[in-house]
Amino acid sequence: MSLNTLSLKQAKEGLSKKKFSSIELVNSCLSEIKERKNLNAFITVCVKEALEEAKEADRRIKDEENFPLLGIPISLKDIYLTKGIRTTAASRVLDNYIPQYSATVVKKLKEAGGIIIGKTNCDAWAHGSSGENSDFGPTKNPWDEEYVPGGSSSGSAVSVAANMSLASTGTDTGGSIRLPASFCNVVGLKPTYGRVSRYGIIAMASSLDSIGHFTKNVEDSALMLSVTAGKDPNDATMPDKKVDDYENYLNKGVKDLKIGIPKEYFSEGLDKRIKEKIERSINLLEARGAIAEYISLPHTEYAIACYYIIQPAEVSSNLARYDGIRYGNDRSSFADEAKRRIMFGTYVLSSGYYEAYYKRAMQVRTLIKKDFDDAFKKVDVVITPVSPTPPWKLGEKTSDPLAMYLSDIYTVTANLAGIPGISIPMGLIDNLPAGIQILGPHFSEGRLFQVGKAVEESGL
Ligand code: GLN
Repeated sequence: MSLNTLSLKQAKEGLSKKKFSSIELVNSCLSEIKERKNLNAFITVCVKEALEEAKEADRRIKDEENFPLLGIPISLKDIYLTKGIRTTAASRVLDNYIPQYSATVVKKLKEAGGIIIGKTNCDAWAHGSSGENSDFGPTKNPWDEEYVPGGSSSGSAVSVAANMSLASTGTDTGGSIRLPASFCNVVGLKPTYGRVSRYGIIAMASSLDSIGHFTKNVEDSALMLSVTAGKDPNDATMPDKKVDDYENYLNKGVKDLKIGIPKEYFSEGLDKRIKEKIERSINLLEARGAIAEYISLPHTEYAIACYYIIQPAEVSSNLARYDGIRYGNDRSSFADEAKRRIMFGTYVLSSGYYEAYYKRAMQVRTLIKKDFDDAFKKVDVVITPVSPTPPWKLGEKTSDPLAMYLSDIYTVTANLAGIPGISIPMGLIDNLPAGIQILGPHFSEGRLFQVGKAVEESGL
C-alpha cells in the first residue's frame, strides 16, 4: 500500500511506530502531485519547505514527541494566508502576493506538527461551484478528467481524493467544501459559523464564511476539527465555547436518534438516482435504530435568491480593499465573475435599492434560520442531498451563471443559518461520486461525526 493512500490516523500510527518516516510520506505525496499534474490541483507546491519540515519531524518523532499531526502532509486552499508562501486566491490580482503572517488555522495545524505540502487551486476568491473559475485554469475531477470536481475548494478536494495530501483545508460560504467533497468522494466538513477562526483567510462574504476541511474519512475529520477549532481573539465573531471531544462521538451509533427529512429538498430538480441513494442510506440508518420522519423547512425556496443578495453585498465590500495601491495588481486584473458580484453587490446596497433587496434578504435569512431552529426542536439531525445532480462536464455550465448558482440550492441554507454540515460519500452514480449531507444545530459537530460514521459503516 503506498503511504500517500493512508488516512491521518493510519499515518500517525505508522510514523510513531517508525514503520516509515515523514520524509517517505511527504515524498510519496509529492510524487503523486507530479504524476497527476494534469488535474491542476495545486497552484504552489512547497517541495523544499515540506521536505525540510519532514526532516525535522522525523527528528522529533525519534525524540518521542507526540503531536496530533506530527510529520503529516496537509494542503491548504490558496486563500489561507501563509507567511512567506505565495497566496493568490486563484486570482491574477494577487499573482505575486507573499503574506507577512499566517492564518490562525495554519498556525494551529503547524503547532500540531502538520506539514504544509502546497497551496491548492480553487475558484478565484472562492466564487464558484465547479473549480473552473480559477485564473490558473480549471481543476479536473480525478474520477473522470472530463468532469468538474466541484468548487470552490476544488484543488483541496482533489488533493485528498487523489492522495496528494492526507487532508486539506477549504472554505465554505455557500457550499464550497460540501459540494467538491461530494463530487470527489471524500468527507467535507463545514463547521458552525464561528467554530473555527477566519483570521488570515481571504474573506469572501464575512457573515457566511466557514472554515473547514476535507479528509478521507469521518474519524480524520473529527481529528482535524479538534486541531483547528477554538476561540481566537483575532476573530471577533467567535463565541468562547468549549471545543467538544469529537472522538467520543464516533462510536455512539444512531439508536433512537431522530432524523428529519425535509420534503422541500426532495422535490423537482433532484436527480432521481441521488434521491434513491439517500433513501437507501436513510433506510440503513433506520436499520441501525435511527428514527426518520418527514419535516418541512418552508422558506427553502427563497434560499438561493437570499444568498445571492447577501453574499455579493459582502463580496463587494470585501473586494474593495484590492485597489492595487497597497498590494496586488490593479482592479483590471479581476475576472468576470468577481466583477459581476461587485456590481451586483454594490447595486443591492445602493440607496434606493437597499430596503427592497438587502434588507428584505436579511429578513428572509432570519426566517430560514428559524426554520432550522424549529426543526431541531423535533429532530436531532437533518439529512439532505448535497447537490441536485452528479458532477457535470467541464464547460457545461460556464456560460450560464444561473445554472451554476442553482447547484448550491441544498448547501446555502446552512451558511445562511450558521449551522454545521458534513458531506459523506455515498457511492457512485455512473462511475462518478455523490454525497449525502447531514445538518445539525449550532455547535453539534460531534453529532454530525456520530451520524456520518454510521453512514460510512453502513457501506453504501
Ligand atoms: N458556489 C457558491 C458561490 O459561488 C459558494 C461559494 C463558496 O462557498 N465559497 O457563491
